[in-house]
Amino acid sequence: GGGHLYYETAGLLIAFILFGKTLETIAKSRAGRAIEALMELQPPTARLVRGADYGPATEIDVPVEEVEVGDLIRVRPGEKIPVDGSVVEGSSAVDEAMITGEAIPVEKVVGSQVVGATVNRTGSFIFKAERVGTDTALARIVRLVEEAQGSKAPIQNLADRVSAIFVPVVICIAAAAFLIWLAVGSSAATALSIFVAVLIVACPCALGLATPTAVMMGTGIGAKMGILIKGAEALQLIGDVDTVVFDKTGTLTVGRPELVELFCKDKAREDELLALAASCEAGSEHPLAESVVGAAKSRNLALSPSSDFQAYPGKGVEATVKGHRVLVGTESFLTAQGVDFTALSAAKRNFVDRAMTALCLAVDGEAAAILVMSDTVKEGAAEAIWRLGHLGISSILLTGDNRRTAEAVASQVGIKTVIAEVLPEEKDQRIQELKAKGLKVAMVGDGINDAPALMRADVGVAIGSGADVAIESADVVLVHNDIADVYRTVELSRFAMRKIKQNLFWAFLYNTVGIPLAAGLFYPFTGWLLHPVVAGAAMALSSVSVVTNSVLMKRFKPSA
Ligand code: ADP
Ligand code: MG
Repeated sequence: GGGHLYYETAGLLIAFILFGKTLETIAKSRAGRAIEALMELQPPTARLVRGADYGPATEIDVPVEEVEVGDLIRVRPGEKIPVDGSVVEGSSAVDEAMITGEAIPVEKVVGSQVVGATVNRTGSFIFKAERVGTDTALARIVRLVEEAQGSKAPIQNLADRVSAIFVPVVICIAAAAFLIWLAVGSSAATALSIFVAVLIVACPCALGLATPTAVMMGTGIGAKMGILIKGAEALQLIGDVDTVVFDKTGTLTVGRPELVELFCKDKAREDELLALAASCEAGSEHPLAESVVGAAKSRNLALSPSSDFQAYPGKGVEATVKGHRVLVGTESFLTAQGVDFTALSAAKRNFVDRAMTALCLAVDGEAAAILVMSDTVKEGAAEAIWRLGHLGISSILLTGDNRRTAEAVASQVGIKTVIAEVLPEEKDQRIQELKAKGLKVAMVGDGINDAPALMRADVGVAIGSGADVAIESADVVLVHNDIADVYRTVELSRFAMRKIKQNLFWAFLYNTVGIPLAAGLFYPFTGWLLHPVVAGAAMALSSVSVVTNSVLMKRFKPSA
C-alpha cells in the first residue's frame, strides 16, 4: 500500500539527486581536462648529472618531482626540458611554442634561461635547475587556470540573490499548499505529498550548476587557446568592454626595434657615440635599450662599464660612461635635464613622421646624435583592430612615444584615436579618464610601465612575452603574443555569458512551470497533480539541460 509507495519515492529521489551530483562531477572533469592537458606538457623524468666534482660524472633519470633547485640536468636532442633554469654547458635551439606560441626555435647558449615543458631540438646541453615543483612557469599557469575555474562571476551574484528570495518563497508556497489542501478536506498524506512535490520541483539545484560549469568550460577553453583568464569576473567583464586601449611598443609592434639610422652632429664620432649610448642602455630592460645594445654589438663595438645608472620610465636613461655623463631618451627628457637639443630637432621631425622612434643622445650636456629606431607592426594587428571594431569595440593607442610616431603607427593598423607622449605614471590616469566618461575599458600592454594601467582598467590584458609585473597585474594573459587573441577573448566571453544566461533559463524553467502544478493549482479544473517522483525527474532534467549546455561549449570557435 501507501508505505511501499513512500519508500519507492524516497529511493527514486535519492537516485535523482545522485544523478545530479554525477553530472556535476562529469562537467567538472570535462573542464579539468584542459588543466590535465597543460600538466601533461611536463616530462615525467629528468636526467640528473651527479658527482662531477668527485670524479667521472654519472647521469641518472629521476622523477621530475625529485629535482631540486641547484641540480644539474642534461637535456638530449628531442627531449623536453623538465623544469626552469639556466644553461651552464652546451648550446641548442629550443622550441618554446607551448609557452610563448612563438613557432621559431630560440637559440640557447650558456647563461640562457630555459623553461620547463619546452622541447629541445638537435643540440645537447646541461642546465642548472632554478625553479622546480610549484614554482615553474608551467605550474604557475596551471594554478592560474585552477583559480579562475573556482572563482565567481559577478553574474552569479544575481543567481545567488534570486535564490535567496526564491527559497523562502518556495517554502511558503509549499506550506500554504499543504494547509489549503488540509483545509479543503484532503488526507494528511495527500497534503504532505503535495508539500514534498513543491519543494522538490522548486529545488534550484541546477542553479548552482548554471554559472560555475560555464565558467569552468570558458576558462578551460581559453587556456587551451593560450588565453589565460585569471577569474570568472574577467571572463564576464571583457565581453562588456567597449574600448580597448593598446600600448604601442611590444604590444602593437613586434618590440624589437632596429637601429636604421644614426644621425650624428659629428659624423666622425659615429661609432664612439653609439658605443656610449649602448653602454648606457646596457642597464635597461626596455626593448629600445636592448636594440641599441644589439646595434652596437653588430658593429663589433666594445661596451664600457657604466656607473650611476638611472632609468626614467617612459623618458629615458642616464649613466656615467668613461667619465662622460650620457643621456638617452626623448627630446623633452633631455630638455628637462638641461640639454639644448634644438640643433637636431628639425632632423628628428623628419624621422618620426615615418613611424620611427627617435632616441636623442646627449653627452656631457651637449646634443650629440639621434638614434632612429624602426619597429615593425605585428602581423595581424590591423585585422585584429578591424575585428574589434566589428564587435562594436573602438581601439585607442596609448604610448609614451612621440605623437607623430604614434600617429604613423596608428594609421598603419587602423586606429583613429591616439593618446601620445604619456608618462608611465600618467597611463593609468588616462585610463581613469576614459572610465570616468562611462566607457568600459580594457588595456592591453606588455611593459613595466603598463602595469598600473592594467590594474586600473576594467580588464587588464598582458601580452605573454611581457614583463613579469605586467603579467601579474593583468586579468587576462595572452600567452601566444598574438593581438588576434584580444577579440577571441571578447568572443569567448560573450559566448560564455550567453551560455550562462541559457543555463539560468533552463535552471528556472522546470521550477517555475512545476511549482503551480505540484501545488495542485490545476487540480480543480484538470485533475492534474505532480507526483514527487515526477517532480524529482523534472529537477534532474534541469540539471541535465544545464550541464549538457555547458559541456557543449567545447564547440566554441572564434570568428578567425
Ligand atoms: P611605450 O608606451 O610605447 O611602451 P615607453 O613609455 O616605454 O613606450 O617609452 C616612451 C618613450 O620614452 C620611448 O619612445 C623612448 O623615447 C623613451 N624611453 C623609454 N625608455 C627608454 C630607454 N631605456 N632608453 C631610451 N629611451 C627610452
Ligand atoms: Mg610597451
